[in-house]
Amino acid sequence: MGETTETIFSKIIRREIPADIVYEDDLTLAFKDINPQAPVHILVIPKKPIPKLDDAESDDAALMGHLLLTVKHVAQQAGLKNGYRVVINTGDDGGQTVYHMHLHIMGGRHMKWPPG
Ligand code: 5GP
Repeated sequence: MGETTETIFSKIIRREIPADIVYEDDLTLAFKDINPQAPVHILVIPKKPIPKLDDAESDDAALMGHLLLTVKHVAQQAGLKNGYRVVINTGDDGGQTVYHMHLHIMGGRHMKWPPG
């Protein structure tokens, strides 16, 4: 991995900077995006600082599955009964800006396809 594992999200995990946390368990944290692109925009992150999806390894398989089930749980908790979008921006071309892997949950409006 080229990127440092220390990011703003590490500071959110350690409560060194504030975030609107909506869910937490031993492995994951979910908090509202500071610059929401939809009425509901929540980020779900592993506490393990995996910089991007490409850095996940076979040992992380259970964690990756747990992240998706956490997305489902958080989306239900947010009341997204009519559906939602899940996005993992990966690397430069993927538009990733924070190099601590995260899943975007966006909902509360009809999402367009394809995204830009
Ligand atoms: P990416 O572009 O890497 O997929 O997404 C990073 C996301 O993190 C962006 O949607 C951005 O608004 C959000 N973000 C960046 N810094 C902070 C922060 O300090 N707090 C919160 N809650 N969200 C952040």
